[in-house]
Amino acid sequence: MKLRIDRITDDSTESSFSVPAAELNERLETGATHEFRLAEPLEVDVRYHRAGEDIYFEGSCSTVMEATCARCLETLTEPLAAPFEFVLSRAPAVDGKQELHTDDLALSFYEGDEIDLAPLVGEQAILALPTRAVCREECKGLCPGCGANLNLEKCPCKPAPADPRLAVLASARVRSAS
Ligand SMILES: [Zn+2]
Ligand SMILES: [Zn+2]
Repeated sequence: MKLRIDRITDDSTESSFSVPAAELNERLETGATHEFRLAEPLEVDVRYHRAGEDIYFEGSCSTVMEATCARCLETLTEPLAAPFEFVLSRAPAVDGKQELHTDDLALSFYEGDEIDLAPLVGEQAILALPTRAVCREECKGLCPGCGANLNLEKCPCKPAPADPRLAVLASARVRSAS
């Protein structure tokens, strides 16, 4: 989704587009710590207008995310809907051979004749991801003793502590003891 900068006017313009899941998943895989991936394309509704050299964007994006639950290791899917708002300014002129590092500037500056919206909105979706992949708040996780999924079955081991946070601590202790 590329916008010609000279076609952006003071009047608000609306547009809808979608970003293929593969495009963002590539980024999620190479990126830092996210366990999430997109199960469906990112659907984007955006409005934009110009004020001088600044271009204002606001809208929302939505998709379905998929991840492995950090506690019980089941696959979880979860709708993600994120409103966003950002402003791009024309990149300051640089002299000589010095080059702009577009990665650093991607969220606040544009250069050239076009703005590619897909990576910018994709970044907004990534920022909206939960920090931790858990299938549900009360997920009981796996038994530290036998590995049974405690959401689905009871196991012969001693009853796990009621608080899942304690269960996590207990499993850490088992691991460090062995
Ligand atoms: Zn779970
Ligand atoms: Zn068990």
